[in-house]
Amino acid sequence: MGENDKLVTLFTKEQGIIKAFASGAKQTKSKKGAATSMLTYGSFAIKSKNGSLRIYEATPITMFFGAGTDIEILTISQYFCELADCFAVNGNNNAEFFRLILNSLHFLTVKKRFPPLIKAITELRAAAISGYAPNLIACDGCGKFQDDIMYFNAQDGIITCGDCERTQGCFAADQTMLSAMRHIVYADFEKLYNFEIPDDRAKLLSEITSAYLTTQTDYRFKTLDFYNSIKE
Ligand SMILES: [Zn+2]
Repeated sequence: MGENDKLVTLFTKEQGIIKAFASGAKQTKSKKGAATSMLTYGSFAIKSKNGSLRIYEATPITMFFGAGTDIEILTISQYFCELADCFAVNGNNNAEFFRLILNSLHFLTVKKRFPPLIKAITELRAAAISGYAPNLIACDGCGKFQDDIMYFNAQDGIITCGDCERTQGCFAADQTMLSAMRHIVYADFEKLYNFEIPDDRAKLLSEITSAYLTTQTDYRFKTLDFYNSIKE
């Protein structure tokens, strides 16, 4: 690599995660430089040469990370990248997951929606897309659809009503939170972000979805640990 070259990691819709060289990308005024900067959505022309991938042309479309981005938003954005790195599959099976990460970055950084809510939507939907969908349809014990409080078991991915037996360590979810969780798992993608819940519920939801994702995947996300360390 020359001193003006970069090796970049891209999450692509067509190929999943790839690493490619961008020659001259560190030069000032390089269009490639802008397109290959962190948290940028762009269009890339890539060829394989001598066993490695090279970026020939790169055009930035949206740069999500601007100066003055606050630390919470930046940390969650980086967490979304780590989710992509962990859950993207090789080949062209990433369309919905790619759309999820892209839209979540947009709602987080451009639309400035409440960060814990966008984080919760992304975590739970990423789990569902990746084959870890919980069963939120009805109480696992008696089939009841709704109760004032339902209990979510992150280990088994099931819900139980107040009358049925449950294991320790379940999360209590009121109707607002349960509806939100059902929406995130079952809604058509077009409607995924079209709901609001009070901020205090969104914070609780974000704790539940983190616990669910880490329990189910047994994966330790470095950026999530950092996020938890800066949360008030
Ligand atoms: Zn029940």
